[in-house]
Amino acid sequence: MSNVIQLLPDHVANQIAAGEVVQRPASVVKELLENAVDAGATDIKLIVKDAGKSLVQVIDNGVGMNLTDARLCFERHATSKIRHAEDLFAIHTKGFRGEALASIAAIAHVEMKTRQDQQELGTHIIIEGSKIVSQEPAVTPKGTSFAIKNLFFNIPARRNFLKSETVEMRHVIDEFQRVALAHPNIHFTLIHNGAEVYQLPGSNLRQRIVNLFAGKTNEKLVPVSEQTDIVTINGFILKPEYAKKTRGEQFFFVNYRFIKSGYLHHAIMAAYEGLLKDGMHPGYFLYLEVPPHSIDINIHPTKTEIKFDDEHALYAILRSAVKHSLGQFQVAPVLDFEHDPNLDTPYHLKNETAPFPTIQVDSDFNPFASELKDSQVKRSSSFSSSRMPTMEMPSWESLYVGLKQEELPSEQIWETETQESKFFDEKSTETVTSAVWQVHKKYLMTQIKSGLMVVDQQRAHQRILYEQYLTFITMQQGASQQLLFPLELFFTPQEVSMLRDIKDSLINMGFVFRRWAEDHVTVEGIPVQMTESQVIIVFEDLMQQMENGMHQNDFSYNDAIAKSMAKSLAVRTGTALTEMEQEHLINSLFACKEPGISPFLKPTFITLPLEELDKKFSL
Ligand code: ADP
Ligand code: MG
Repeated sequence: MSNVIQLLPDHVANQIAAGEVVQRPASVVKELLENAVDAGATDIKLIVKDAGKSLVQVIDNGVGMNLTDARLCFERHATSKIRHAEDLFAIHTKGFRGEALASIAAIAHVEMKTRQDQQELGTHIIIEGSKIVSQEPAVTPKGTSFAIKNLFFNIPARRNFLKSETVEMRHVIDEFQRVALAHPNIHFTLIHNGAEVYQLPGSNLRQRIVNLFAGKTNEKLVPVSEQTDIVTINGFILKPEYAKKTRGEQFFFVNYRFIKSGYLHHAIMAAYEGLLKDGMHPGYFLYLEVPPHSIDINIHPTKTEIKFDDEHALYAILRSAVKHSLGQFQVAPVLDFEHDPNLDTPYHLKNETAPFPTIQVDSDFNPFASELKDSQVKRSSSFSSSRMPTMEMPSWESLYVGLKQEELPSEQIWETETQESKFFDEKSTETVTSAVWQVHKKYLMTQIKSGLMVVDQQRAHQRILYEQYLTFITMQQGASQQLLFPLELFFTPQEVSMLRDIKDSLINMGFVFRRWAEDHVTVEGIPVQMTESQVIIVFEDLMQQMENGMHQNDFSYNDAIAKSMAKSLAVRTGTALTEMEQEHLINSLFACKEPGISPFLKPTFITLPLEELDKKFSL
């Protein structure tokens, strides 16, 4: 029998390797930017077209390559960065595998120009699908320019697999930001479809972060700095009050290489413990320097995970460094753990002057006669002082002296979650005939012909609002309320561009925009149903959906906006509803087209047939 094993030809091997190294245009961006950094460039320009699908070009002013290297660099395992196996433990460069260029050249059209300082003429090479098409001397500036066109031209399945331009561009920007943050001293430029997205002159780290994230980033930053034998930590964290609902600005760098580490992330979360509201994510830009031999980055060419020698120690040092900064910059103390928002003066009383307390002297008072009574009072007051405002206390009542009876705080004001009435101001057209009971401020129960029906109030309301908003938005009927003070919302340039994509749908819903700047949006009108504080929640939710690959068309945008508003505006579990509201909720639910499921595909109600109840009792 003849042999069956053959060595794969190089171009096939390269194409297979490319599958691992190059997943999308952003992978090319990462490899080329890193090569430019490794080449000692001080000025690096990234130019992309169609989110990198048609062109990714990186121009640097680094050391360049001579004629031989210019050709060799496209060979597999061609690298100038390591020579011996031991070098693997002392890596100071980004690359070291010599795989990237060979892989990219196997699946795209590549044009490279390069010249070293001392050479008069440089080299110009065109290579397509691993085949050299042309190579000639050329006049070109010092440094190297790589232009990658028609990525995946020979792997249509891969090309079709690419996501929308918004999503691919998001990945490109992510990679760009990571490299730009790792090297603030290098001048970086990013141009997309002819428009400048970032212009980042070489600077210090704080300035780089501010240039990248714009807005009021500077005042949000708190420095972190710690030096020990096993690690040096530098960088910034964001003050807890700027934590976001989405995990946005979280960056770890180890020896100037961006990495992801769930374990170290946990250390930071532990440092912020007690300072963040549920579901909020703090921002951080942290730079760890460790001896190169104490880490193993040799796990996977594209992976950002890393192995440390002494993870536990690193965890503890990082946590205490972050904690220390939060405390030192008086971020922690201003946040009073015991602070109860219920104790704040109600907004409408802020400008009132509290009446002077009157002292009533009990002339019959005999300290020896009432010892027992006194100690009882003490005990009960220490019991109640921790959380609940004690309404019986005269000093509290005095705050309301002079108010009409109906303005006195009712129980509802003290319930943070209680936000009823405004949700159900429309007139109810039908009425439920039988009574409705609210159970645990969560479910509404009512009798139906066949037995009992249980409605989830939050999901039901989401369904009602969703259908209502969807109609408003598609009929372009969203009513707006003019804001007294226009809202200035700060975003990164790419977030602004995402919002711009859905601008028309937002306008149809009732948003009115005054200004679209590069890093902020001015909103002067919002849908009538909304409050100002909900705007940012809805916008962030929408941007996150876009990042996650929402389809780019008006229908999807309208649908997402309606869903997102329904989610943030629906009455929540834990809200007490009046009888009328309960009835109205059920009636409106059954006037919906799809009463049975919430916009997020969860059941809105269940029924308990009489027979089932009977069965339970027959035991
Ligand atoms: P690696 O970066 O792992 O060495 P690459 O395939 O990315 O592998 O690059 C191969 C080699 O090409 C590099 O080791 C380097 O010598 C050379 N090279 C790549 N890009 C540049 C550049 N922009 N300037 C100078 N040399 C470069
Ligand atoms: Mg490389």
